[in-house]
Formats: sequence, structure tokens, C-alpha cells
Amino acid sequence: MKREHLIKPVLDRHYPTIEYGKGVFLYDDQGKAYLDASSGAVTAGIGHGVQEIVDAMLEQANKVSFVYRSQFTSEPAEKLAKKLSDSAPGGDYWAFFVNSGSEATETAMKIAIQHWQEKGRPGKNKVLSRRMSYHGITMGALSMSGHVLRRRRFIPLLEDLPVASPPYCYRCPLNKTYPDCRLACADDLETVVKRIGAEHIAAFIAEPIIGAAGGAVVPPEDYYKRIKEICDRHDILFIADEVMTGIARTGAMFGMEHFGVEPDLMALGKGMSAGYTPMAAALVKDHVMEPILNGSKSIMSGHTYSANPQSAAVSLAVLDYIDSHRLVESAKAKGSYLLNRMRRMAETIGIIGDVRGKGLLLAIELVSDRSSKLPFPPGLAVTSRIVDKAFDKGLLVYPAAGGVDGEGDAVIVAPPLTISEEEIDLLVRLLEETVREVMQEISG
Ligand code: PLP
Repeated sequence: MKREHLIKPVLDRHYPTIEYGKGVFLYDDQGKAYLDASSGAVTAGIGHGVQEIVDAMLEQANKVSFVYRSQFTSEPAEKLAKKLSDSAPGGDYWAFFVNSGSEATETAMKIAIQHWQEKGRPGKNKVLSRRMSYHGITMGALSMSGHVLRRRRFIPLLEDLPVASPPYCYRCPLNKTYPDCRLACADDLETVVKRIGAEHIAAFIAEPIIGAAGGAVVPPEDYYKRIKEICDRHDILFIADEVMTGIARTGAMFGMEHFGVEPDLMALGKGMSAGYTPMAAALVKDHVMEPILNGSKSIMSGHTYSANPQSAAVSLAVLDYIDSHRLVESAKAKGSYLLNRMRRMAETIGIIGDVRGKGLLLAIELVSDRSSKLPFPPGLAVTSRIVDKAFDKGLLVYPAAGGVDGEGDAVIVAPPLTISEEEIDLLVRLLEETVREVMQEISG
């Protein structure tokens, strides 16, 4: 084997070299085109090679790329914080900029804990979360994550596995059916709070729509109102992890808009800079900041690149592009077109148990038997087979861990919000071919 130096996700696998991207396509150095139906890792929301963003990047680089946040502020960072607050549910958010979704959720966790410390309640220092969740790969974020596979190697260093039940109606962990269940999964949070003691709990974190740990799992419409009531009743801050759902992806600027709830804190990443530079943020409501402003006046967190003007300028240009090209509306309209096409496709493919999602965050869940919803044995690696076969055909889709504890198979379909109907038709044709061939492989 040729000596290599770059550590890639799977070390004995060949990764094609991408030369350039344009719109929803990436092109490798052999001339092969890939339809990016996953926006990378649900990131490239406005598509590849957008000239306006490159221009904004260059314009800022010609002024200054980096200033240290402990010494200076910058116009792009100030403007970006205001723009995010103005477009967030109910407004009145402060922004703390970081570089990745993991840093954003960890920062939100730290600010929530600091909030209670400054209020003279230092015992409130745990952050609750759900099974079937993913909040990031760094230790603090992984501690909050109910992603069994990603935790496995680091268990001794992590908090115990998150415990609250996920709102996973397709295969309810509480064996109930909506609406007869009366949101038992939300009430489960209260049971957990009582068991642990609200005096120990700073916050509860959840993804509005479950992403990598479940595959575009959409909770019932009234679920988050109940969650917020429970949190408020017990003085627990509610953190919405909008890293995957935020910035127009689901047909609303923020996923939580679908549920009519204003989170106390939010974590953003991915689509915020649409892959053009690393950029992420923790957004914090006024009332959460208040004791800190009246107390130590400083957040005990931050990174060298936090709030760097280069990434802030890029992110601002991305948000302007989303506004001027009406991409929230586009995600909604194209999302419903794609969802209908995928549902029609699924009717004739026995191994697709569920087609779900919102806007352009969609997924299929694969099952060995549609009526019993029985998952495939893990040894069959159905998700990987689909992702790999699609890749060979020039279609990029995103693997998710289906099932409450990662025992199922799901594949996320989340193309750039700029995708056309013709490109969606091509996407569905390639996806259908892929799933049919995998179905044949595993049955024959
Ligand atoms: N939170 C959610 C909901 C995510 O989907 C992800 C990444 O997939 C993260 C946090 C972590 O983001 P990053 O990979 O940028 O650290």
C-alpha cells in the first residue's frame, strides 16, 4: 500500500479526489459527477461554488481575516449576531460564535450551567437529553448524546447514557400510539427529572427533528410545547440543538418554529456557513444572559477562532443569499415535492418501512418486514450498502442510525435547498435503483 499521511474516516478505503463543485453537483478528478443529495453532512445548504459567497470571502480577506475576540470585535461578527437574533423565534438572543456544532452544543451547556451558578444555584449542573440523539463528538457533547455507536469507545469518560424517551412514533419505545399516548414520551422527561431531582438539572437539550441518530424523526406537533412546560415548571433551561435543522433546512429558518416554542438557548452550525468556512454559534435568550451580565460579566468558554471576521462575513453572505433567493420557501416547496416522490417510490419497495421528515431534511427507514417493522440484522449492514451503492452511481446520501439504540437502518436525503425539480427527479431515480438493487442483494 502506498504510504499516505492524511487520516481518513476508513483507512483502507479509496476516496475520490474532488476537483470542484457547482450547484448540487461535485466533480472528481476523473470527471465523475456526484449529485450531492446529502449536502455533505447536511451542510452545503446553498449548493457548491456560489460566486456571491466567494466574493464576500475575498472582500473580507482583503480587509482582515482574523482578529482575536479578547482584543477586538468586528463589523461582520456584530452584524451576524443581530441578524441571527432578528430571525430567531421571538428574537432577543445573544450569539457566542464557535467553529463546529459540537462546540456550539457544549457552549450552550456551559452557559446554561453558568446561568444557574450566577443565580446562586451551583447544584444545577447536569444537562439531560434523550436516547436516540446526537449533539456532537467532543467529550462534553458526546456525554449528552444518545448515539450508542459513537459513545462506545469512550464510555468511562462520559456521563451516563441519556435517558429521556425520544418522540419516535414509528416504533414507539413506550409501545404506545399517538395521539392515544397523550405524549407519554414528553411526560417521560418529567419522570426522569423527578428521579434525578430538578435541583441538579441545569438544562434539557434536544434536536427539533432527530438527525443522525434516527433519520429525520419528526415529533408530534404538540410535543415541544409539553417539553417546554415541563422544563419551565422545574426551572430547567431548554436548549434546542438546531445544528442540523437550523438555517432554512426544514422549510423554516429554525426547526423549532414548526412547534411554536422559543428555546432558552439554541446551538447552530452546519448550514450557518453552508460549508464555505467553519462557523457555528450558541444563541442565548436575554433572560439567560441576565444573571451573567449582572454577575461575572464573562462567559467561561471560547476558542481562538471564535467570532473571526472571515467566517462571520461568509456566514452573513450565506444568510443574505438565503433571503434573496427565498430558500426557506424553496425548502418547503421542494421538500414536499421530494417527499411525495419518495413516498410514491416506497409504495413498491418492500424494505422501505417509513418515509419521513420536514422540508429538505428527509429520510427512509429500512426494515426486513414492513408490517412488523422488524429491523434487519446489523450484520447485513443495510445502511452502508445503500450509501455505498448510491455513491457508485454518483448519488450522495447520508447514513443515520435508525432505531432507539441504533439497532435499525435509516438513510437521510437532504440536498441543497437550491435543488431543481429535474434534479429531484434524477435523485429519486438513482435512489430507487439503489434501494432495489440492495433489496435484491440481501434477499438473494
Ligand atoms: N448536533 C447535531 C444535531 C448534529 O447533527 C451534529 C453533527 O452532525 C452536531 C451537533 C455536531 O456538529 P459538528 O460535527 O459540526 O461538530
